[in-house]
Amino acid sequence: MQSKQEWDQEVDLVVLGAGPAGMTAALVAASLGLRPLLIEKTEQVGGTGATSAGTIWIPGNRPSRDAGFKDSEREGAVYMDALIGAPDSAGLRAAYLSSGPEMVDYLHTHSEVRFLPSGKHPDYRDLPGSAVFGRALYPQMFDARQLGADFERVRPPIPEFLLFGGMMAGKVDIPHLVGRFRSWRNFSHTARLVLRYLTDRLRYSRGTRLVMGNALIARLYLSLRKREVPVLFDACVTELVMDAGRVSGVLVQSQGKTLRVAAHKGVFLATGGFGRDPQLRQKLMPQPLAPYSIAAPGNTGDGIRLGLQAGARLDEDGQGPGAFWSPVSVTQRKDGSQGLYPHLLLDRAKPGLIAVNSAGKRFVNEACSYHDFVLAMYASHQKVPTMPAYLICEAGFVTKYGLGNVYPGTTDLGPAEESGYLVTAQTISQLAETLGIDQKALSDTVERYNALARDGKDLDFGKGDSELNRFNGDPDHGPNPCLAPIETGPFVALALWPAEIGTSAGLQTNLDAQLLDANGNVIEGLYAIGNDMASIMAGTYPGPGTTIGPAMTFAYRAVMHAAGKPVPVRQVGEDAPGGM
Ligand SMILES: Cc1cc2nc3c(=O)[nH]c(=O)nc-3n(C[C@H](O)[C@H](O)[C@H](O)COP(=O)(O)OP(=O)(O)OC[C@H]3O[C@@H](n4cnc5c(N)ncnc54)[C@H](O)[C@@H]3O)c2cc1C
Repeated sequence: MQSKQEWDQEVDLVVLGAGPAGMTAALVAASLGLRPLLIEKTEQVGGTGATSAGTIWIPGNRPSRDAGFKDSEREGAVYMDALIGAPDSAGLRAAYLSSGPEMVDYLHTHSEVRFLPSGKHPDYRDLPGSAVFGRALYPQMFDARQLGADFERVRPPIPEFLLFGGMMAGKVDIPHLVGRFRSWRNFSHTARLVLRYLTDRLRYSRGTRLVMGNALIARLYLSLRKREVPVLFDACVTELVMDAGRVSGVLVQSQGKTLRVAAHKGVFLATGGFGRDPQLRQKLMPQPLAPYSIAAPGNTGDGIRLGLQAGARLDEDGQGPGAFWSPVSVTQRKDGSQGLYPHLLLDRAKPGLIAVNSAGKRFVNEACSYHDFVLAMYASHQKVPTMPAYLICEAGFVTKYGLGNVYPGTTDLGPAEESGYLVTAQTISQLAETLGIDQKALSDTVERYNALARDGKDLDFGKGDSELNRFNGDPDHGPNPCLAPIETGPFVALALWPAEIGTSAGLQTNLDAQLLDANGNVIEGLYAIGNDMASIMAGTYPGPGTTIGPAMTFAYRAVMHAAGKPVPVRQVGEDAPGGM
């Protein structure tokens, strides 16, 4: 840690990390007339946010209310209390609920960022206060041609989420693509997407019609460009500079030089957490350690280390499983590299699929949230190896609904089998034998499940019972949209592993994301946002947008605080201030 010295550059805010948290912070700062410097370790903006769905979970948000959906911050508070349990002693939940809608309004007014109401998008648990409609927002589609050459600075989605090697498709596109030969409307929607994509490829390295997290990041980046916010790429902060107990600047390594940059109003740690850092993984994640991470490659815990060096406190106790989780399958990419397909919502809830452990037994409601699914893997693994777990279904299921990286409509499973992605067999016993699972145990499991499926009631794990289950099931299938027997071969298995989509253990902060030391005192001039900040969800995953919602909300609160305009925490239920 350095102390005061000559500066090479002086700004108001230094923001480390160009993910949703850091970009929001830099943008809000610029909108207030402050001079931010955004420092990004890699050559592109976006971090994990660029590969995400970009959904934000904001109870009581205005776009949903304007669209006629009824939700409130108060209901959000009831749900968070029911889910998280412990009292909101630090007040962080209240700060989030109070400022989330305000953050959305602020960005809509002051930037190119636009969120649309998701409409029906149930919370992940049916509990008091949970919502089925109007709580989640998704980024409006973005035409990346507006960025010109800067488009190359936007980190692309993972290849597993791209069609034809470069075309994005959002949730609204999927039904059209899957049913492209079922109606003229679907066909023309698909044809328009493909034509636009082919035209794009004449000039760009990938499609320019961006959706999900890529649209959010591109919108943030365009907003930053319009406000002429400098972004220092390929640069890394090695040290914080302290001056009379306050963080006053940073030392940055950039192009082989060390720059001394003063930050008059604060340094913001937004480096995305520790997903790519083996030591912090070992320390903060459950055992056995998940072998995979889908976090951005640059997320090596730098912000957390810098915070600790400044005397900040790591929240080790309050975060349960240390991360937000998803089951993933391991893909073999065309270039020979290994990829990960996150099983978020498209396959697990559909009728005619079960998940089993190495004993051939079901261990989870397959249609639960991705986070809860992995927690169940860990719980099962205490008793019997469940890493990997296996999804089991008919080949016909794969053709109809898709399975992981094998898209719906695929009739020839040969290539997926040859690459080792899927295992197929004519009978359940043969499938069990290939997987090294006791044949009778798996046959018994399938038989039991089939009996339950025929009755339409999963008495064992409740698949199809919750709003979320049914939302992701097949609405055309009854009586239970998530249950159908698995009886006609060939049968298919796919191995699933736990991987984190973001880390949740992080640095402890107050309501304005200022870091706290071991005595609970504020470290002046130092803020942590995004996954560098200890999650307010305490190891739970309430609904779609659980990480980016707080990342952007606390970025907003923190910058307002640094700017001398702290945002009061309204009692939930009080009216939001009007006219942003
Ligand atoms: C497939 C998938 C889908 C997801 N969908 C959603 C969703 O819909 N909603 C949701 O809420 N969450 C979602 N997530 C999780 C979400 O993307 C992350 O939690 C979120 O992006 C974290 O934001 P962040 O700004 O903290 O970090 P990141 O987005 O990871 O950005 C961190 C940035 O900091 C940079 N950096 C690292 N170290 C340094 C350093 N020393 N100096 C400068 N820069 C540095 C990194 O290179 C990176 O660009 C999803 C994740 C995945 C993988």
